Amino acid sequence: MAGTSTAAQRAAATTTKWVYLFEEGSASMRALLGGKGAGCAEMTRAGLPVPPGFTITTEACNAYYTSDKRFPDGMWEQALDALRVIEQKTGKRLGDASNLLLVSVRSGAQFSMPGMMDTVLNLGLNDETVVGLARLTQNERFAQDAYRRFIQMYGRIVMGIEGRAFEDELDKAKERHSAAADTDLAADALQDVVKTFKQVVRRETGSDFPTDPMKQLELAIGAVFSSWMGERAVVYRDANKIPHNLGTAVNVQTMVFGNMGDDSGTGVAFTRNPETGERALYGDFLINAQGEDVVAGIRTPMPITELERILPAVYKEFTEITSRLERTYRDVQDVEFTVERGKLFMLQTRTGQRSGFAAVRIASDMVDEGLVTPDEAVQRVQPDHVVQLLMSRFNPAAKETAIREGRLLTTGISASPGAAVGRAVFDADRADELGTAGEKVVLVRPETSPDDVHGMIPAQGVLTSRGGKTSHASVVARGMGKPAVVGAETIVVDLKARAMRVGDRVINEDEIISIDGATGEVFVGEIPTIPPPPIEEQAELLRVLEWADERRRLQVWANADNPGDAQKARELGAQGVGLCRTEHMFMEEERLPVVQQMILAAPKANRLRVDTERLKKEMVEAHQAKRTELEAQLRDIEEQMAPARADYEEALGKLLPMQREDFKGILRAMEGLPVVIRLLDPPLHEFLPRHEDLLLEVAELRRTAPESSELAEKADLLTAVEAMREANPMLGLRGCRLGLMYPGINEMQVRAIMEAACALKREGVDARPEIMIPLIGHVNELNRVRGQLEQTAKKVMAEQSIQVDYKFGTMIEVPRAALTAGEIAETAEFFSFGTNDLTQMTFAFSRDDAEGKFLKRYTEEKILPANPFETVDRIGVGRLIRIAVEEGRQRKPDLEIGVCGEHGGDPASIEFFNEVGLDYVSCSPPGVPVARLAAAQAQLAGAYSTK
Ligand code: ADP
Ligand code: MG
Ligand code: MG
Repeated sequence: MAGTSTAAQRAAATTTKWVYLFEEGSASMRALLGGKGAGCAEMTRAGLPVPPGFTITTEACNAYYTSDKRFPDGMWEQALDALRVIEQKTGKRLGDASNLLLVSVRSGAQFSMPGMMDTVLNLGLNDETVVGLARLTQNERFAQDAYRRFIQMYGRIVMGIEGRAFEDELDKAKERHSAAADTDLAADALQDVVKTFKQVVRRETGSDFPTDPMKQLELAIGAVFSSWMGERAVVYRDANKIPHNLGTAVNVQTMVFGNMGDDSGTGVAFTRNPETGERALYGDFLINAQGEDVVAGIRTPMPITELERILPAVYKEFTEITSRLERTYRDVQDVEFTVERGKLFMLQTRTGQRSGFAAVRIASDMVDEGLVTPDEAVQRVQPDHVVQLLMSRFNPAAKETAIREGRLLTTGISASPGAAVGRAVFDADRADELGTAGEKVVLVRPETSPDDVHGMIPAQGVLTSRGGKTSHASVVARGMGKPAVVGAETIVVDLKARAMRVGDRVINEDEIISIDGATGEVFVGEIPTIPPPPIEEQAELLRVLEWADERRRLQVWANADNPGDAQKARELGAQGVGLCRTEHMFMEEERLPVVQQMILAAPKANRLRVDTERLKKEMVEAHQAKRTELEAQLRDIEEQMAPARADYEEALGKLLPMQREDFKGILRAMEGLPVVIRLLDPPLHEFLPRHEDLLLEVAELRRTAPESSELAEKADLLTAVEAMREANPMLGLRGCRLGLMYPGINEMQVRAIMEAACALKREGVDARPEIMIPLIGHVNELNRVRGQLEQTAKKVMAEQSIQVDYKFGTMIEVPRAALTAGEIAETAEFFSFGTNDLTQMTFAFSRDDAEGKFLKRYTEEKILPANPFETVDRIGVGRLIRIAVEEGRQRKPDLEIGVCGEHGGDPASIEFFNEVGLDYVSCSPPGVPVARLAAAQAQLAGAYSTK
């Protein structure tokens, strides 16, 4: 607030250095001077030709906000002092028509950021100085044109006037003078336009266009500061996780003119090809042009190499400068430059963005050139680069054409990268049918559930109108390495009509669509894709990954449910399987009936077991008469329940060999490496038809076929499903509780695992199963289950007379388990953090509900800093993990600890897992190379930090 700062504060402010001449700064002062300011400073220090200028610091911007949008004390005076220095150096003066200095005002934060104020060029023009410009350029028309452009640019950018208001007037002027284009307007016509533009400013803002160059400068600096909190800038920072308290710097710099004739021009260049990484200058140049004309695409620029022919001396100097910049920054630079009458000026240098291909090639080349160390090379490649290198993508030109043709339907959330093309299909069965027959399809659903998985497997990709990055569709698609776009909310999926609508556009079943899982774009029609080269052919990527492997401490395992996935994961560098989910094997179509038979019989068979055990116990204690009575009862029960028991045992008997083959396949694929197999985990009703569907079917059959055996069967099923219904299935009968209630299922699974391992061992295959018991909350649960299963395991080895190495362990996914990890570690030989459930239970969020209903708002409104299902919540969930690691290892120092939740593939979470000392992370097979890199980066970052 005005006038509230104390004398002490004012004194402190006046002594603060708010303004740095370019020669006073350096590359290392990026936080204070912003990227652009630090770049100009570094180039100036290196003696490169940079038009003189100064930078107002990011601290000044922050002070501007804390003092009610006024410049901090002393800042303006320092800026004027700096301006004096520049005037001396150039021998020109701002506002002096006879010796004209013009400046540009350029915003520049620590991280390059669209959404902030555009650069204002030619600041300092007014009715008097425009005469000076005409003299300087010997071109009256050019001067008037620059002046009207300045008012237009300044009016829009600094004064916030709608661009349309100026364009309309320009159009009218063109009409009046029968001019086809701006360039057809003569000097006097432009002078009229300048007058009208000033009227526009008065009309729109109620005040005159500032003719005083000092006033122009002051307002422009304020506008740059204000743009830091502009809506677009704030949204961009939110999306890119850039803090809001960094502030932006302001650069004020002497103008140089690229539009002074054919020995002038402006251009942008990369020191290496940003697409391929090739070591060759890459960029564009425009003769006789100013500012962003190159980027604006008004005229077609020439390739930078042409400069050698046109201005050979400039080209030579330029190439010397760029290679020097590369050596200084030891990275690819993206530079902006201007040539004024044959003299080269450098205006900007920054680290060049690059594609995945370029990133690995550049990293590899620069190690060979001695520019960077392998440590740095590993840190230079981003996890996203690696993702890009292993996924198919759309032909960029074809995609651009599609956008131009209006074929971009909508943009949803990019859930799983890669490009997919196929016929739109709206149900999983049809996707399965067509897909298995070799047709290319894209499965389109409002959202997906386990019922849709069989349709996702043969599909090219998945598109849903609802859900977020951790919805079922996203998680499953990522696991499969399949492209997916989710949450495309403008799409209305009409399952009945087998069509989807976006506005009034209708896409019917079988029409071709293309989806880009890396960007979230959805197109009508086919866009040709480019498949990724196989990893073994990507020499530079392999080289970078090898360096990463040498530097990481964390192992990388993969979640794989079948031999194919395990094999793929192994090829990509997985060092084990961290999670093999047996329920996925149960979902397969020909097995489901057997699984259902088992589930329906299980409760009865179980009751039989419980009742008979009770009776037997009572008999031991009973006297003779009572005992006979009990014996009769026992016989009765046994007779009654015999069919259910037979059913149950028959079903388990059928499942045993199937599971044995599953496990054999996966253990064989991972020969010599650990495979963690989780015993059955989900609530059983997930394998049964839905209650609502059954209810309808039974009602229908009662009407149409009351006597049918089908009705009897369905009614039985309905009764069973009803008996199994739970108010809260995720907290109901699942995980180890299932095994405690129905030990037969677990015993069958352990038998299958051990028989598979023994058989392999006999063949000479080193199988290393690790049996994982899910959802433990109390150590007694684990003791009981493990007790039962240990017997089974020993029995199998005795039967086969062969010993195999195996382990029993547990998931840590219930908060109570984490809190009592010491006790649990006594029985468990390994821990695996199930961070999905652990996050759900720690937050008391049901993930599916949270993501559909409120989580988006939560993160948008910053109630939560990020989606905790994507990046592990270090403070809360992370605390539980720390406790469990510490107390588990205290009790059992060689306890093997990993993570198998989705977070295992997330680079930010990997950093945390490395920090807390896990042994491995386990992620989806396609995520393995990314995790290898991320684990190395975490280790390297840790080595440098002081934590
Ligand atoms: P951006 O952040 O959008 O790159 P810049 O501040 O770099 O914005 O300005 C954009 C362009 O304006 C520059 O590439 C350059 O061509 C031109 N420009 C900026 N300052 C000057 C100057 N002092 N002299 C000549 N051209 C300039
Ligand atoms: Mg720039
Ligand atoms: Mg779980």
